[in-house]
Amino acid sequence: MKIKLTKTSPEQLKTPPATLSGVVFGTVFSDHMFCMEWDDGKGWHSAQIKPYGPLKLEPSSMVLHYAQMSFEGLKAYKIESGEHALFRPRENFKRMNRTAQRMCLPQLDVEEVLDALKQLLRLDSGWVPGEDGTSLYVRPTILATEEAIGLKVSSKYLFFIILSPVGPYYPQGFNPVNIMVSEKYVRAVPGGIGFAKTGGNYAASILAEKEAKENGYTQVLWLDAVERRYIEEVGSMNIFFVIDESIVTPMLTGSILPGITRMSVIELGKHWGLHVEERRITIDEVLKGLEDGSVTEIFGAGTAAVISPVGILAHKGKDFQVGNGETGPVAMRFYEHLTGIQYGRESDPFGWLELI
Ligand SMILES: *Cc1c(COP(=O)(O)O)cnc(C)c1O
Repeated sequence: MKIKLTKTSPEQLKTPPATLSGVVFGTVFSDHMFCMEWDDGKGWHSAQIKPYGPLKLEPSSMVLHYAQMSFEGLKAYKIESGEHALFRPRENFKRMNRTAQRMCLPQLDVEEVLDALKQLLRLDSGWVPGEDGTSLYVRPTILATEEAIGLKVSSKYLFFIILSPVGPYYPQGFNPVNIMVSEKYVRAVPGGIGFAKTGGNYAASILAEKEAKENGYTQVLWLDAVERRYIEEVGSMNIFFVIDESIVTPMLTGSILPGITRMSVIELGKHWGLHVEERRITIDEVLKGLEDGSVTEIFGAGTAAVISPVGILAHKGKDFQVGNGETGPVAMRFYEHLTGIQYGRESDPFGWLELI
């Protein structure tokens, strides 16, 4: 792929924030972006790196009406050696292709877009922050751009990648979150788009999150849409339970987002010789386990927070404390090792780091 380069002029270059403490997640962007376009019959074309800035879209652009789109989220880190690295980036572009298949979007060439991302990161390398726990969040997106409001598969698309420096998720150390089982709403249904990283899933979830926040909880625990018994995810993270020293996570049924952090926790747990189960797990089993002490830890897993311990689980107006309400040893161990690999402090036995 030939990438045309238009650099931001020296007067227009921005200065990366001196510190990211106090900077709200995803509100600051680097100097450049990568873009390419798709047209039926022509495929991907016009690949370019250009100054970060507004898109030119007509109001009739299909994505604005019917949400035919996909996005991804991954991070670039400044590692111990001073080099920059991505964490398992091919997995994100492979997942984007699975989302694309479901959403009728064109497929990407994983190696080509990874190469484009690396070129963008090299150009904006001054935006990879160095403070403890910080990273450069990478947001690839595909949008349906045909100018027509009849519902059909678009014949035109735009792919772009933008970069946003982000601070540590836990500036003052781990803060276990309080979560609430959603009884009123569901996130995804079998045969639907729950496994896809596509905008509609998040549009559909924000009311539940808003109501949970109004009740003093930070995240929603989603149950399956059919029986309203099986646990699916927490907010936009996958969920793990420590039950009688086994690591248990809901199996992927099509309505759960297959997280790369989830996959990494499973692989790391097995590598350590822990017993890891992917199976269906009911809310009743968890509540009973919290009462009899067999469920000792609950934690979320996702790119943004890596590991997010749960302190309280609320169900039907009743709060259930998880363990002593603090971060448990299993969550801590996964957090330390995953971030250790991501920042190049630990050996990387699986080859998860991709140097830029
Ligand atoms: C992105 C996402 C996750 C976590 O996936 P990672 O690849 O680990 O970041 C989990 N659930 C939902 C709904 C998501 O959108």
